[in-house]
Amino acid sequence: ATPMALMAGTGRGARMGILIKGPEVLESTRRIDTVVLDKTGTVTTGTMALVEVVAAEGEDEAEVLRLAGALENASEHPVAKAVAAGAAARGALPAPGDFANVEGLGVRGTVEGRAVLVGRPALLEEWSQPLGEDLSQAMKEARNLGRTAVAVGWDGRARGVLAVSDTVKPTSAEAVRSFRELGLTPILLTGDNETVARAVADEVGITEVVAEVLPEDKAEVIGGLQARGRAVAMVGDGVNDAAALARADLGLSLGTGTDAAIEASDLTLVRGDLRVAADAVRLSRRTLAVIK
Ligand code: ADP
Ligand code: MG
Repeated sequence: ATPMALMAGTGRGARMGILIKGPEVLESTRRIDTVVLDKTGTVTTGTMALVEVVAAEGEDEAEVLRLAGALENASEHPVAKAVAAGAAARGALPAPGDFANVEGLGVRGTVEGRAVLVGRPALLEEWSQPLGEDLSQAMKEARNLGRTAVAVGWDGRARGVLAVSDTVKPTSAEAVRSFRELGLTPILLTGDNETVARAVADEVGITEVVAEVLPEDKAEVIGGLQARGRAVAMVGDGVNDAAALARADLGLSLGTGTDAAIEASDLTLVRGDLRVAADAVRLSRRTLAVIK
């Protein structure tokens, strides 16, 4: 490939809202046959809203929300922002004492001297706070509605469930159609629950789903596909996608995403519109065809 033509392709990309790390990136785009898409913030807007609060038998809903909100206030995760905003709208939130992010699982810390956990049931189980029948049922119902549900516990007991809703970006289904037209197989990859992931996948026309994947394992999913001979593009926005973006044959980040994702990627889609990922593949194929 002549450097001149690649440079021209890069310039054209910039005008289309695609920032390309270097001219050689266009070369690696040529072989791509699979596009792995992160769910939250990539296929969906990632702007979540709190839609339901369920308290366990004998617990107080307002208190479940207040303590969860206080802790989530310290986290940047889309689920955390929804919980904190929903809680703050219903009353003042105390400042947390200790706080720790448990990547891909939730948060833990102290609020008013109580040891609080918010996140996936697996996180609460790790701290010997299994969900009772009532809360398990509430989680299941929320997930069947396509909502992300998280559990809240403190001082040795699971106390409630919070459900947040996310919305699929209006452009995602069209982007998936474009990927297929280009001969690319789309796969949805997420740390979220399988039922929720399926609901989102159905809505945008994806049939392959890899769900409940911890952040550190996302890169391994990419590696597994590569080991089976696939040439993989990964599109993601989060800190938890950075390793997978770096591992992929082509990493695409969203300009609306985190710095870590942008740094780890080869291409950045400035406006966060997934359709532009298909444009990028088309552009590089056209640029390289001209060169040949
Ligand atoms: P994704 O892969 O869809 O971007 P993550 O890996 O960031 O999702 O998170 C996976 C799951 O872990 C979330 O769906 C949520 O259930 C839980 N989780 C992660 N962070 C938090 C948090 N701060 N509060 C509550 N739950 C969380
Ligand atoms: Mg994400």
